Amino acid sequence: MPNLNPAYAKLAGSYLFSEVARRVKKHKAEHPEDEVISLGIGDVSQPLAPAVIEALHTAVDEMADPATFRGYGPEQGYAFLREAILAHDFAPRGISITADEIFISDGAKSDVGNFQEMFGPDTVVALTDPVYPVYEDSNAMAGRTGDYADRRWSNIVYLPCTAENGFEPALPSRRPDFIYLCCPNNPTGTMISRSGLEKWVEYARANGSIILFDAAYEVFIRDDAALHSIYEIPGADEVAVEFRSLSKTAGFTGLRCAYLVVPRKIRAVTPDGAELNLHDMWLRRQSTKYNGCPYIVQRAAEAVFTEPGRTQIMKAVAIYRANAAMMLEEFRSLGLQAFGGENSPYIWLKTPDGMKSWDFFDRLLEKGAVVCTPGVGFGLSGEGYVRFTAFASPENTRRALDRFKNIL
Ligand code: PLP
Repeated sequence: MPNLNPAYAKLAGSYLFSEVARRVKKHKAEHPEDEVISLGIGDVSQPLAPAVIEALHTAVDEMADPATFRGYGPEQGYAFLREAILAHDFAPRGISITADEIFISDGAKSDVGNFQEMFGPDTVVALTDPVYPVYEDSNAMAGRTGDYADRRWSNIVYLPCTAENGFEPALPSRRPDFIYLCCPNNPTGTMISRSGLEKWVEYARANGSIILFDAAYEVFIRDDAALHSIYEIPGADEVAVEFRSLSKTAGFTGLRCAYLVVPRKIRAVTPDGAELNLHDMWLRRQSTKYNGCPYIVQRAAEAVFTEPGRTQIMKAVAIYRANAAMMLEEFRSLGLQAFGGENSPYIWLKTPDGMKSWDFFDRLLEKGAVVCTPGVGFGLSGEGYVRFTAFASPENTRRALDRFKNIL
């Protein structure tokens, strides 16, 4: 038998959502009469916008005609989409990145998971705790996280985000090479303030670190003072890459399209001390391992950045925002501590009576047939919390909340 990569052999248990799915499946098998409502995994419920559907149809027809058929596209993505993203997401905010610094992909999960592989085994990674599990697991798979014991890797710098520090990570005592920041945050649903992000950019610049800024939930930001892109901070284009996704922005969880900004100014160093441009290295990596997001999907994505497309996607976002508001109001009226939900589709709920995350998850599933996500699955600081998503239909959100109330 072949030897398994030792880093994979060290991986902790099953991926969080697989364990959630396993318990839900078991519950359904034991209680076939229950109609389970999921406010667990962050998958959308609203269909694609009409402008997106129309663009898809048109692009499919193009593929049927020899004159307009497209085969392999550019690995970095079509210029029409990169230009549309630039004109919509970055240029209006005075950000001076260029279209060729944007890379189109099939998802922020793969981008965020793959990006670390350009770096060496000694690279030190800082993660907020709780955290989107992909950041931690992808570094563990690369074998640079040390040993795993008591739910912690010995070589990761953990940055606790708790109610006490307002879910804003403090600067680390040990210098990391990478700092993963997710804002609006999954799972806590909270934001890092403008001054907080400025502090991180300053730190990265002073310490030669790179910030991996995950803005997958940017469309949910309502706070006028909040930053939408890390590049609104001067100098961030020398130290930060930014991940965006159309999954939650425009319901592309099934269609798959995301984008990553790798500015040309970011540099890394080779073992013999030579400086390299990270943008060129990422292009090299993508050209080798990836043949690009499908043409028809990129045309569909382009429609998101048109006037009608934007109006239509914001209708779905408004539904999710209203769900989040409904949940926040209900939880707070029950005297519970609930965070997030204002600039994000996630609510981070402190469990009642100090219950542990998985105990509360099991109770809610058993007694109410409602699925949430146990906070501890996102990291040790998530113990005693559960995450609810606002992505269900308004009817199901209401029904889940009624069941929740009855259980309490
Ligand atoms: N980043 C964060 C913080 C997420 O929560 C998710 C999805 O849940 C992703 C990235 C992945 O997005 P995509 O569907 O584009 O792979």
